[in-house]
Amino acid sequence: MQLPEDVLREQAHSDDLRTVPFETLASLASSSRLRSSADCSLCNAQSGAILDQGDLLGGKTLTVLETANDQGIELRQYTSTDHDEDMDTVPPMDAITVMERISKVEQYLLEEASDHYPPTADGLRGWVTIRKHKRVGRHGFQQVRLQSSEPPWLERERHWRQHNGGSRPARLEVAATAETTVGEFRGGVTALLDPSSPRALEVVLFFRPSCSGWLHQVPGDQRWGMAQAIREVTGALRLELSLRGYPEAYTWVLHAGQNEELFVRLFVSHRVSREGGHESWVRALKDHLGLS
Ligand SMILES: [Zn+2]
Repeated sequence: MQLPEDVLREQAHSDDLRTVPFETLASLASSSRLRSSADCSLCNAQSGAILDQGDLLGGKTLTVLETANDQGIELRQYTSTDHDEDMDTVPPMDAITVMERISKVEQYLLEEASDHYPPTADGLRGWVTIRKHKRVGRHGFQQVRLQSSEPPWLERERHWRQHNGGSRPARLEVAATAETTVGEFRGGVTALLDPSSPRALEVVLFFRPSCSGWLHQVPGDQRWGMAQAIREVTGALRLELSLRGYPEAYTWVLHAGQNEELFVRLFVSHRVSREGGHESWVRALKDHLGLS
């Protein structure tokens, strides 16, 4: 029997995602449309159920249920309860806290997924996609999506590897020059320009030595390094977009999976002009990062 929505919402409301039964989450998300289209749904208490809360130096980071359907379940990791804060503005420790929450959500979804999701490894079901679409004025969140079929980006990366004879980071590393190197960060993270991208700027952040697996499977100090690298590089990118008169908008996508090399692709939209060339963006980012 389907429980009433207020009972489900009460069950789902939690400070710790791990105490929420997966089935509650699935039935709640599929039975509710809680978003308001105009104002910020989170600030107006119109978001989906809050499943997890973590303390930041200022405010909290929240895991919120967004939607569920036959293809999957989407959660949002809101960076901060403060509408104007995001991964590119919070203090370094808070960026780490948010990344740890994202990792926890990924682990929960893969480990707790029902048998609607096919087994993909020992004790894991389904596939998780983690990405961020930074948009002007929108309350900042990272999207964490559990899917019941293999996401197309995994297939595209496999194809890319076969076509290029190596992983994306490995190929960029071989061809790297001072003009394509944004910088090196804590935790062994390197950020390199992808000159083959049709966009004005695309940067790949990866580990050396490389590591593979889902986000929750890599050592903590590597997640912390990636959190800080994302914070610093997106902060610099946001500043440069603003200086060039563009909306402070960008996307990053985490590439991770069973036996997959873990890396992040960060890019601006196709609407940003390529005038000045890729290298002018790299020089500007280095300037803002104090790495030139
Ligand atoms: Zn808001």
